[in-house]
Amino acid sequence: MAAQRVAIIGAGASGLCALKCCLDEGLAPTCFERSGDIGGLWRFEEKPEEGRASIYRSVIINTSKEMMCFSDFPIPDDFPNYMHHSKIMEYFRMYAQRFDLLRHIRFRTSVRRVAKCSAFPTTGCWEVETESEGKHESAIFDAVLVCTGHHSDAHLPLHAFPGTLPCVPAPGMLSSFPRLFTALSPLAEP
Ligand SMILES: Cc1cc2nc3c(=O)[nH]c(=O)nc-3n(C[C@H](O)[C@H](O)[C@H](O)COP(=O)(O)OP(=O)(O)OC[C@H]3O[C@@H](n4cnc5c(N)ncnc54)[C@H](O)[C@@H]3O)c2cc1C
Repeated sequence: MAAQRVAIIGAGASGLCALKCCLDEGLAPTCFERSGDIGGLWRFEEKPEEGRASIYRSVIINTSKEMMCFSDFPIPDDFPNYMHHSKIMEYFRMYAQRFDLLRHIRFRTSVRRVAKCSAFPTTGCWEVETESEGKHESAIFDAVLVCTGHHSDAHLPLHAFPGTLPCVPAPGMLSSFPRLFTALSPLAEP
């Protein structure tokens, strides 16, 4: 029997370990990542792409390396206990290399739509529509893992609060947080 096909959306920390676990289980995963690299919001760039959340220049993770590491891939002994974001990226790259994950990732490919196939009641399959450099494609998968993160789009439950706000964040404001924090942070890049 052919291996079950799994679409994984996003190649951040969650997408990478989802990919590795699918391979462990003998599944046939394809990971779609809309940016050109792994790491999700841990990949710092002075000008992050619109729509991708990002940490800011001075971020050091607030989780110890023993608590945060993938259980099957310990963080090297010579890495600091609380790591600068550059070390986190280094660790993610080591993880991707160790388990040969990159060849399963389609970079610069956005998932535009996920819908149940017409035969879903009998097959349980999903139709996944992607877009890469203007080219639209559609493929059928047995399962979909959504690893898109949750820091890109602001959720503002304004209707739940009485009164008015002095200002309402404009769309896209969240992705300019890195620049704001960089400007405010007293910590320099190590
Ligand atoms: C400023 C900041 C500081 C943080 N600090 C800590 C910390 O100290 N400790 C901690 O444990 N956690 C921290 N976090 C939490 C952080 O969310 C997690 O550590 C982790 O990065 C989440 O990984 P993820 O893979 O779920 O999402 P992300 O890292 O956001 O990755 C999502 C990926 O999905 C891709 N994607 C999104 N939509 C699509 C689409 N439609 N098609 C294709 N690809 C898509 C994106 O390009 C991205 O690469 C912090 C978050 C922020 C914002």
